[in-house]
Amino acid sequence: MLVRQSSPSQHTTVTIAGVPVGGPSMVVIAGPCAAESETQLRTVAECLTCLDIRLLRAGVYKPRTSPYSFQGLQDEGLQLLHDIKRAYGLGIVSEVMSVAHLERACEVFDCFQVGSRNMQNFELLKALGQVRKPVLLKRGLAATIEELLGAAEYILAGGNQQVILCERGIRSFDPATRNVLDLGAVALLKRLTHLPVIVDPSHATGRRELVIPAARAAVAVGADGLIVECHPIPQQSVSDAAQALSLDELEQLVRETARVAQAVGRQLPCPVERAA
Ligand code: PEP
Ligand code: MN
Repeated sequence: MLVRQSSPSQHTTVTIAGVPVGGPSMVVIAGPCAAESETQLRTVAECLTCLDIRLLRAGVYKPRTSPYSFQGLQDEGLQLLHDIKRAYGLGIVSEVMSVAHLERACEVFDCFQVGSRNMQNFELLKALGQVRKPVLLKRGLAATIEELLGAAEYILAGGNQQVILCERGIRSFDPATRNVLDLGAVALLKRLTHLPVIVDPSHATGRRELVIPAARAAVAVGADGLIVECHPIPQQSVSDAAQALSLDELEQLVRETARVAQAVGRQLPCPVERAA
């Protein structure tokens, strides 16, 4: 299988808009669950720029449990992301749910996210095998490691080698946390595959107060990066409000995880302490 390591030292670095993922430096991808407005995106983009975070996440095609919930700003959101990318020079990481989205988003997205609910959308995976852009493949809600690797294999087999795996928590019996962050899977994936592995502590825990501790653990266990949800006014997020960090909390996450990264021999760019 192309996805497996041929030797323990085989590691692939995937570059999103000039930012390497899987190298010595850890990556942080941050932003709202969903693009909501120009003001929201600008406020987040200003904060990312100050924190030296160069990749913005923001969904415009949202997979929602109920068809009556907000489905994302779709084409209007695409235009907002296009404008924010131009204004701030950030790379855009955003979800596509179908081949039709892929065609529309190609100009704007720098990395296509395949969400948990679509990890085994094989037609989408095959189409992503044909593109020449990175893919962030999230583990399915209850997918085994073999199933995740099989899904990645579809993209690699199609000819696209730029795949990043993402552990985002798996289903369990206990609703106390939204999902269960499978840290063992991160360590295992780092052994089985040469692909970069990042962690989403936001969907993994579903609770704002657990996101920073989970992020610290992810860095300690060997993740190559983090994808985190944040919002200028977290309680007003139209989706996933309970897990959105405030922008101050995002800064705290960067500072705390940078220290853990250093302890485990990795780097994470950290902003200079602001004067009190
Ligand atoms: C998201 O990133 O907002 C998202 C829907 O993630 P997941 O597919 O992991 O649930
Ligand atoms: Mn979300």
